[in-house]
Amino acid sequence: MAYRIQMLEPAAAFDAEEGETLLDAAERAGIRLPHDCRFGTCGTCRVRIATGRVAYEDFPPGLSPEEDAAGFALACQAHALADVTLQPERLLAPCSPPQRYRATVQAVQALGEGVTHLRLDLPPEAGELVYRPGQYGNLFLEDGSPRSFSMASRPDGRGVDFHLRRIPEGRFTHHRVGGLRAGDTLEVELPLGTFCHHPEDYRPLLLLATGTGLAPLKSILESLMDSDDCPPVALYWGARDERDLYLHQEVAGWADRFDDFRYVPVLSRAGEGWQGRRGYVQQAAIEDFPDLSEHAIYLCGSPAMVEQSRREFLARGASIDHVYADSFTFQAS
Ligand SMILES: Cc1cc2nc3c(=O)[nH]c(=O)nc-3n(C[C@H](O)[C@H](O)[C@H](O)COP(=O)(O)OP(=O)(O)OC[C@H]3O[C@@H](n4cnc5c(N)ncnc54)[C@H](O)[C@@H]3O)c2cc1C
Repeated sequence: MAYRIQMLEPAAAFDAEEGETLLDAAERAGIRLPHDCRFGTCGTCRVRIATGRVAYEDFPPGLSPEEDAAGFALACQAHALADVTLQPERLLAPCSPPQRYRATVQAVQALGEGVTHLRLDLPPEAGELVYRPGQYGNLFLEDGSPRSFSMASRPDGRGVDFHLRRIPEGRFTHHRVGGLRAGDTLEVELPLGTFCHHPEDYRPLLLLATGTGLAPLKSILESLMDSDDCPPVALYWGARDERDLYLHQEVAGWADRFDDFRYVPVLSRAGEGWQGRRGYVQQAAIEDFPDLSEHAIYLCGSPAMVEQSRREFLARGASIDHVYADSFTFQAS
């Protein structure tokens, strides 16, 4: 049995089969709904259910029971139990459509313990590359399987940077990257994703990253540096120990490029000599900001950090309309 799904603004309608997620059904009908992780973690696909009922196979970690009770749902996990009218929460801002290119490796360098800096040159037909800082690209394995990585620099000509954390035995970050040399070529598709800076918020920015979750935030911050009207920025970067802070000096130096910039590295397994903050990055932010109701919050990196931060920040007054997340889920099936 199929249910009729009516979308308000932009007005559209489609059918969803029993058990089919709202996102899958929309895509089957050629309708684009904002989404990123597809695992119910990042919250990008949040919709408001105006009429009708939805249910989940497993209740998604990226939705709080309070949001559920208030009539919100995550389209990537929810399936209809009746005809539904829904309102997407986030409309897709226009950007360049994704394109596939054969890129050339310009540089592949160790950035620190287990992190590689990969710089690709796109071919001349890519022209001046346009993407929203915060977006990601897919890099392809030889068998055509995609792996997602966020652009780690702001758009600048045809060059594009990535920070790749090595996953033990990971097909791309371990085996493929280990054999890459300057001059090799790689298939890429970009730009993708809806994670990006929302200047219309104009609120103090609270940015949280774990590990290579720094990459999309670096891209965003590079696009805001040296501007006169950037709101105050607080960047919390979580890692296990000092060796994982692979751009520590560079990030600390950003203080010279903003009027109001605070950088707080937080280590969960720091050595004895560490003078800075210890514990989990979200706990450090909570200790420093008991009231989050006025902030725009950006979360990038481990799905566990994203999920816990969203839950705990919302419980402390953060506005759901100003929390944005990029959850670095694993992709091997
Ligand atoms: C939108 C998006 C943007 C991303 N951006 C970045 C980025 O900028 N930089 C970056 O480094 N990563 C990023 N990621 C994550 C990256 O895409 C994945 O880590 C990817 O799976 C790595 O590919 P791989 O082929 O090396 O590993 P895969 O072959 O995909 O192997 C991953 C497998 O390893 C296992 N595994 C190994 N180690 C662990 C561990 N510590 N914890 C849990 N499971 C483990 C998992 O079971 C998983 O199945 C992003 C992910 C998304 C969705």
